Amino acid sequence: MCYNGGMSRSFDVNRLSGFEPEKCWVGETHKIIYRTREEAEMAARVAEHDHHLTGRLSVYKCEFGEHWHLSSK
Ligand SMILES: [Zn+2]
Repeated sequence: MCYNGGMSRSFDVNRLSGFEPEKCWVGETHKIIYRTREEAEMAARVAEHDHHLTGRLSVYKCEFGEHWHLSSK
């Protein structure tokens, strides 16, 4: 399978938490909100594993609120 690195598909992290994650509009896209840095980093590791993106995802604090998002490098 060829995965072209398109980041538009949401990561499958919500199946772990079992509820619909909150979203935050950042520019043209809405991103999943993580309440803690630890939560975001854990989600990044899972997403990297699922999508073969090891080391490609980073965690950053949102400029619009007290929460965190994932970003692809
Ligand atoms: Zn945000």
